[in-house]
Amino acid sequence: MEKILVSGCLIGQKVRYHGGDALFDHPIFEKWIFEKRIIATCPEVSANLTTPRPSSEIIGGNGVHVLHGIAKVFTHTGIDRTNEFIQGANNALSVAKKHNIKMAILKKNSPSCGNKSIYDGTYSSNIIAGIGVTAALLEKNGIAIFNEDEIILADDYLNKLENNQ
Ligand code: SF4
Repeated sequence: MEKILVSGCLIGQKVRYHGGDALFDHPIFEKWIFEKRIIATCPEVSANLTTPRPSSEIIGGNGVHVLHGIAKVFTHTGIDRTNEFIQGANNALSVAKKHNIKMAILKKNSPSCGNKSIYDGTYSSNIIAGIGVTAALLEKNGIAIFNEDEIILADDYLNKLENNQ
């Protein structure tokens, strides 16, 4: 059975920067939980960042640029968190490899987990097209990334994966 990597906050872990979760309530998600497919992780907490913590955004690009050393991650209070975000991405990749994971559902807009959109680096809640650091590293390693709004697409992808086995 295929396992699915999921942002911990989406299954109710209180790991977000503000100390809360982003619980995602959907029948497909509930089915996957019942089937014990879900492997949950929070890249930022796995890199020893505290909860709650100052919010961070990518400055100067997106997660791909961070991995290439040409953009950085800073808190709104001015602390450089680039190393922690890269460490968190590597931790998530290790978890994925351990479980032979081929797909993930990651929280949209996050500077770690966002797959298609992230905050724009101005700490003003503006969203731009782009990918977070963990999502970029997972994608680079061949893992298909979906966000919570793409759950139907993700379920189709899962069915294709399992029917091709
Ligand atoms: Fe959720 Fe990802 Fe942010 Fe952790 S790093 S709180 S899993 S969005």
